[in-house]
Amino acid sequence: MTAQPHLNVVPFVSVDNMMKLVHAIGVETFLRELCDFVEEDFCRWEHFDKTPRVAAHSHDGVIELMPTSDGTLYGFKYVNGHPKNTKSGRQTVTAFGVLSDVDNGYPLLLTEMTFLTALRTAATSAVAAKHLSRRGSRTMAIIGNGAQSEFQALAFKALIGVDRLRLYDIDRSASERCQRNLAQYGFEITVCPTSQEAVEGADIITTITADKQNAVILSDNMVGAGVHINAVGGDSPGKTELQKDILLRSDVFVEYPPQTRIEGEIQQMPADFPVRELWEVIAGKQPGRRGPEHITLFDSVGFATEDFSALRYVRAKLQDNPLFEDLDLLADPDEPRDLFGMLLRAAAWSEPRGLDHEARKN
Ligand code: NAD
Repeated sequence: MTAQPHLNVVPFVSVDNMMKLVHAIGVETFLRELCDFVEEDFCRWEHFDKTPRVAAHSHDGVIELMPTSDGTLYGFKYVNGHPKNTKSGRQTVTAFGVLSDVDNGYPLLLTEMTFLTALRTAATSAVAAKHLSRRGSRTMAIIGNGAQSEFQALAFKALIGVDRLRLYDIDRSASERCQRNLAQYGFEITVCPTSQEAVEGADIITTITADKQNAVILSDNMVGAGVHINAVGGDSPGKTELQKDILLRSDVFVEYPPQTRIEGEIQQMPADFPVRELWEVIAGKQPGRRGPEHITLFDSVGFATEDFSALRYVRAKLQDNPLFEDLDLLADPDEPRDLFGMLLRAAAWSEPRGLDHEARKN
């Protein structure tokens, strides 16, 4: 992928090739390496052009554009969130994204990002937990065992050594599927009949449900001293998972406050509710956990820099794993200003009757 033979060719990573890439690298290695890229970009947070994502809300979901740039590369992701989708055989979350060269504006990569979103969300959660959870945390409760759940479990295992899972979902078959899918990865897994039982003895609680409402997935009495909460499913206005009282007892860490105040758990709180920025903890500018008895809460909503890190990682890995197709995405007339001439020349071989015929007809 180093030298592009034609200026119009953009490497495209399909869903099929993304799965092949994950297998070629190994899912845990992929997650661990992706964590490094995510951390690296959090450490240079001030270099990024940041803005809350542009969200188009509808009755049942949201479609979002998530752009950012570090001045050299520009990335954006198109992503949806439609909790009702699984009922019609669709994903709650699907995505694709682009990485471009800021210098000339040309795309360098177009890729599926449904898998990549699950991987980067899990990697970001694991990075947050590495800095915020108690040392030696091994047991994680996962409430909500849908598409994202296995990725979360594997990232926490790869990065901080979580090896005991306590699963709960309102649909028990989802927990059983998650248990089956993770059978080969060396976890001790308990499927729990209630969320209360799932959180018993957990060092880390991940909430990752999909429901477009202010839900109470975790109530205050379920959260004991010293726990780290990885709250991932509340990521849109009117879509939260935690009882407000939990926020009052926790040290809350967020990605980008202007976005999280609209979309995260803290949308339930006043605009001046104190939060700390995750990047400052990762970059060593702020302390993370204050002590073993404190409750830490990562109020995850997903931020554009994490997608940027993922796009950057995939582009780097394609150099040794050419799992992409060349996409004829950009026009490249021999003389750059002769765009119409290129169209005319194409008529000669693509349309038997050519443009003249069209012109006469009109
Ligand atoms: P999914 O639809 O595949 O799975 C959601 C699961 O939650 C389902 O199995 C469902 O039965 C379960 N569930 C719903 N209500 C529940 C409840 N009250 N208690 C227990 N389980 C319940 O969705 P997904 O792709 O796994 O995404 C999960 C959530 O994570 C979504 O809300 C999505 O928007 C969010 N998300 C956040 C980020 C981020 O960066 N913060 C990234 C990706 C997805």
